Amino acid sequence: METLKGVGVTSGIAIGQALLLLDEEMVVFREYIEENQVEPAVKSFIQAIATAKSQIQSIKTQMKGRIGEEHAFIFEAHGLILEDQSLKNETIKYIRTHQCNPDWAFSQVLYALIREFQGLEDSFFAERAKDLEDVGKRILKILTGNKERGFKNLKDDIIIVGSEFGPSNITTFDNPKVKGFTTDLGGPTTHTAIIAKALNLPAVLGLHTISRKVKSGDILILDGLQGNVIINPDAETIANYRKLAKTRKRKVSPYMGEVSLPAVTLDGQKLQLLANVELPSEVETALRNGAHGIGLYRTEFLFLQYSPSFPTEDNHYSTYCAIAKNARGLPVTIRTLDLGGEKFFHRAFIREKELNPVLGLRGVRLCLFRPDIFRVQLRGLLRACAEYPNIQIMFPLITQTEEFHTVKALLEEIRLELVGEGLKLDQLPKLGVMIEVPSAAMVADHLAQFVDFFSIGTNDLIQYFLAIDRANDDVNYLYQPFHPGFIRLLRTVIRSAKKAKIPVTCCGEMASHPLQASLLLSLGLENFSMNPTSIPDIHHFVCAVQAKSFRKLFRESKPITNGTVMRQKYLDLIRNQLSDNDYTRLIES
Ligand code: PEP
Ligand code: MG
Repeated sequence: METLKGVGVTSGIAIGQALLLLDEEMVVFREYIEENQVEPAVKSFIQAIATAKSQIQSIKTQMKGRIGEEHAFIFEAHGLILEDQSLKNETIKYIRTHQCNPDWAFSQVLYALIREFQGLEDSFFAERAKDLEDVGKRILKILTGNKERGFKNLKDDIIIVGSEFGPSNITTFDNPKVKGFTTDLGGPTTHTAIIAKALNLPAVLGLHTISRKVKSGDILILDGLQGNVIINPDAETIANYRKLAKTRKRKVSPYMGEVSLPAVTLDGQKLQLLANVELPSEVETALRNGAHGIGLYRTEFLFLQYSPSFPTEDNHYSTYCAIAKNARGLPVTIRTLDLGGEKFFHRAFIREKELNPVLGLRGVRLCLFRPDIFRVQLRGLLRACAEYPNIQIMFPLITQTEEFHTVKALLEEIRLELVGEGLKLDQLPKLGVMIEVPSAAMVADHLAQFVDFFSIGTNDLIQYFLAIDRANDDVNYLYQPFHPGFIRLLRTVIRSAKKAKIPVTCCGEMASHPLQASLLLSLGLENFSMNPTSIPDIHHFVCAVQAKSFRKLFRESKPITNGTVMRQKYLDLIRNQLSDNDYTRLIES
């Protein structure tokens, strides 16, 4: 039994068998076979080894001509692995004793051996482990060649383990038998974390070594609240966690009963609590949890659904109409496509590997680079706007006013085109921008003269302002919403919006943490958009505190020079205003 500590994403507990997903093409599931199928399974395994041998032989011959004899020896090593009798015999034994499919048996034997080599911490064996993995994958590919790879027919509860998953992987995990997932890489504000929350799927990210420590079939306990993963726990630990999982489930949203009451602070400041959604089906949950509208619909997840193709204009139109309709007249902010950067999950968009994707063709830049795709989205979106006046449009990753003018001009051109085709849409809907790049924040006063609203994307704004990759957990400790410079930046944006009398929302993760939300409250923010499950907590929090006390704290703390001290002051003030129970739930957990 071993416990690894990482970043927990959802508060749930998951218990299940590990399923190693290192290569999407090659996921291996355990299948139980009939007794009379055992020898054919052994035969197909022996045949797979022979096929791998001949593949390696022909690669070796080709490579000799191209890279010379001295380098082709690498394939010699691969050939020797295939000659290894113990790997072969162990696998055959495993098939016979466990009566299972050959790919499962081989993966069990292979990964046990790889783990042993990796555990020796010697560079020679580390290299051998890589060779083994390479050859092993070849054999597994041969054995699993024609198999269906979805998670449809799972019999056991599983927890998926990998090095890193993009949001596209995660959406395929939406299956009752998939209880959670865990990765070597990733942090709390990555899109992987965001979609895990949307699917309410327990996850622990950033464990560094998990994909090298476990093999498929190991039992795992995943505690999303504590950020722990326990590998091969004993029976007592499993029993304890099963109990804990039940109470944790019951503890979800003790404040649900209050969400229909207005979100007003004790001193009478009215706030708007909105929902961020990634899937149209979340709108229902959002309203049930008390959302006053949809503050952010991330349309990249619609693209994901159709990947590797693209959604058609009608797909866009019907999805946006469905969201606006389900929102029952409440405001809905649809954000245009924000792919690129760490949202690398639509293969069709990726031209070549960018050196710094987060600073490259992402968000509105990518859209302007591919107007053929962007136009289809905008046409569908404007058609939906003609039917649902509660829709407003938002553009991501705007860096300067001119960029906004360019997209607005394109939108107007498309509106006229649609009007020419008979659509009734006299004017553009309300248009806003994400403030998530420092340059946009610094010109917020100018930008505010042209747009109808701002939404502060603190996930990216912190990343770009503090030079911290939001997906890199090694620098996550620097991801500080209370950084004095960042507080000043937030202040600038909120002030600019207020001066121009346009609404400003925060739709980054900051809005969903009571402590960070109190900082936003003290800066005068009134609109908070967050994942639907956080709304009851934030609702309860704002109703239990005095807004003016936070404003006073902020005023009296200037000049702010130390983020840690500042954070502590907010914590102390919150401590004074919340009951012990509320403090434990809202701040400490
Ligand atoms: C943000 O950057 O804060 C944001 C809400 O957008 P996303 O997380 O989709 O990049
Ligand atoms: Mg963003």
